[in-house]
Formats: sequence, structure tokens, C-alpha cells
Amino acid sequence: MRDADAIFVNTCAIREHAEEKVHSQLGRYDLIKKEKPDTIIGVLGCMAQSLKHDLLENRPFVDIILGPDSYRKLPRLLSRKKEIHNSLVDTTLSRFEVYDDLFPSRKEGVNAWISIMRGCDKFCTFCIVPFTRGRERSRNMESIITEATQAVEDGFTEITLLGQNVNSYFYDGHEFHHLLETVAHVKGLKRIRYTSPHPQDMTDDLLKTMLTRENICNYVHLPLQSGSDRILKRMNRTYSRDHFIQLAHRIREILPGVGISTDIIVGFPGETEYEFSDTLTVMEEVKFDSAFNFKYSPRPGTKASEYDDPIPEDIKQQRLEKIIDLQKRHTLERNLDLVGTIQTVLIEKESKMSSHQWAGRTDSNKWVIFDKEDVQIKDMVSIQIKKAKGITLHGEMLKQAEAA
Ligand code: SAH
Ligand code: SF4
Repeated sequence: MRDADAIFVNTCAIREHAEEKVHSQLGRYDLIKKEKPDTIIGVLGCMAQSLKHDLLENRPFVDIILGPDSYRKLPRLLSRKKEIHNSLVDTTLSRFEVYDDLFPSRKEGVNAWISIMRGCDKFCTFCIVPFTRGRERSRNMESIITEATQAVEDGFTEITLLGQNVNSYFYDGHEFHHLLETVAHVKGLKRIRYTSPHPQDMTDDLLKTMLTRENICNYVHLPLQSGSDRILKRMNRTYSRDHFIQLAHRIREILPGVGISTDIIVGFPGETEYEFSDTLTVMEEVKFDSAFNFKYSPRPGTKASEYDDPIPEDIKQQRLEKIIDLQKRHTLERNLDLVGTIQTVLIEKESKMSSHQWAGRTDSNKWVIFDKEDVQIKDMVSIQIKKAKGITLHGEMLKQAEAA
């Protein structure tokens, strides 16, 4: 890093923790800059957008501050920087920028992430995304297909369509399920996933498309956030507890064997013990396959950051531990249901536990560990599930004839 002419840090502002990591990184860059004053330091992305003034004031060594819609200006700013000594800042948000013609340069890998829309218009009261990423806009379908085709030609096996609100994709009359179906037809593509959808935009059309196309993974991420109607309203989540539960049942009805994961926030301002227990009862009712659990973290500029009744840190921590424990039990319960079944697994990497084992995922998004046989990363193999332990499945590979 000390040899670099320019160092850019691409940032996320979704929770305080993400920002803290960047602050400590910037501390290191400050030292590099002191040793080598010609090094150009840049902060890009959501923190640049939301903390521009703070950065200008408290991190004077940062040369370039660019928001998420300004990356095209990077080459120009870099060449200007040689002549100008002040910080160069561009945090204009665009209603149109989707970087349609700029495909990421991808190295070797199994999964290619393809961004299909940007921004968000939902304005959940806890969330900074609508402020840092701006208004919702979708990419032209053709350019997405071109990028997907290119990724498959470059050797990627799986594609994950990506967006803050992926299923509210809309371009020129095409809805998300149209796009998903079209990407599923890309020749040679073994698997497609998508994230993060919003429960409000989960349609039967989408679920039916998932059912009909073999290579669309049988997995839905369905962020709950809270199980209490009053908190959901204060979060501006636009669905009720009952609607969410019905939706989860509907997904399981249309897509047998589907994996459902969720996001949960504990300690939202004013969340009572009783309202927190409403979240636990939704978890009991739905029994998610997995969950990403967060303590509420106030984001400056959002509506919820002005709400009274902050929940003390120790209570947030207790509630977090409770849902983590409950989720662990549910994950194990769901995974135990798979013991004895045969699952198709895409091999993604060597297991962290042993160099003699592969790790891969089922299409329902569960990690499976099994002994290495004469197969390689990116192969799809049939695995007989033998054991569920912790959050992982363990199995044995079937030979071609056995699998048939
Ligand atoms: N668009 C997706 C979520 C994207 S953000 C949706 O609406 O579901 C990813 C997750 O971060 C959210 O689902 C939420 O659980 C969490 N999150 C966002 N803002 C947060 C905050 N201020 N505090 C804690 N968690 C937050
Ligand atoms: Fe944030 Fe998701 Fe809500 Fe949009 S829908 S404001 S990205 S949590």
C-alpha cells in the first residue's frame, strides 16, 4: 500500500459499524500521507455522500470525495489533483446514472454480482440509503443481459442480480420477473440469485417465474425488520405482521423446499419488551432458514434518528443475543429436515475446516461440506445430506450413476 500513487476507499454508511471500519482505515492512510505527501487519498461511495462536511473538516488529508453517482469523474479529478491543492468534492446525486455502459472488470470467480437498479424511494425511517443513493432507477434490460452473457463467457457459473430494492426493478414496461426470466435464458448460466427484495414488491408472478426456471435458485431473502405492527408503522415498512406471515407461507406454498432468510433490527426507538417479543413470535411462526440480525443504529438525517425513547445499548445487546439464539435453533431445525435428502450443490471453495473438503451451496442457499472427490470448484454435484451441525450441512458426494 505504501507504494501506491493513489488510495481509494469505497465506503458503506448503512450502519455505524461500517463507518467505524472506514474511520480506522483512514487513520492508517493519514500516516501514509505523512510519510509520502504525494499519495492521493480518496473516499468514494455512501460515506462520501453523507459525511462530506465531516471529512472536509476532520480529515484534511483526504484529496478526493466522490459520492456514488460521481464515479465517472474520477479520471478527470485525478488528473486535476496534480495542479490543485484543495480537496476535490463531487457528491451530486443523479436521477439517471446507472453506469449502464461500465461493466466491472471481473477476475476469476464463481459468482458475478450484477447491479440492476440503484437508489431507493421507500424511505424506511431508519435507513440512510434513500439519502446516500438517491432516487430509484433501473438499468436497461439489454445492457444487463449483455453483462450477464459476458460474465458467463468469462467463466462465471452463478449470477446474483443486485439492487437496494431489487424487485422494484422497472424498465420500459419490464418488471423484475421479466428480467429474471430473460437472464435465466442466458446460455450456460447454471444459477441465478437476487438480493435484496422488499416484501411489498414480492409478486406471485415473480414466485411463479422462480418455479418454472430450473436455474433460478429456490431462495428468497425476505427482510422482516420487526414483528410488531406499531414498530413496522414507525419504520414505514408498508406491511403488517400478518401480511408478512401470509407472504412467507405463500412463498413456501408456491416454492416447496425454498430457503427463506431475513433481516431483523432490534432496539428500534421506543421498542417495548412486548413489541420485541412480537418479533420472536413471527420468527417462531415463519421459522426462517437464516437471518441477518442488527442492533438499531441511528443514522444522521433519517427520520428515526429524531425519534424519542432510544433503547439502551445493554438492552439492544440482550435482544440481539435472544434472536441470534432463536435463529440458531430454527436454522438447525430446518437443516435437520434435509438430512437424508439429495441436494444439488455448486462447489464454491475449499472448506475452512479442512483442505480435504469442499464447501458449496444448495440452491436454497445452505452451505454443505463434503470430502473432495474428483470434482472441482464450479462443478454442480449431487450430495446426500448426512448431518446438520451448527448452521452447516455435511454430506457425501454421489457418483453419477447413484445420483441419477
Ligand atoms: N432494501 C432492503 C434492505 C437493505 S439494507 C430492505 O428493505 O429490506 C440491509 C439491512 O440493513 C436492512 O434490511 C436492515 O435490517 C439493516 N439496516 C438498515 N439500516 C439500519 C440501521 N439504521 N440500523 C440497523 N440496521 C439497519
Ligand atoms: Fe433502506 Fe431497504 Fe427501506 Fe430502501 S427499502 S429505505 S434500502 S431498508
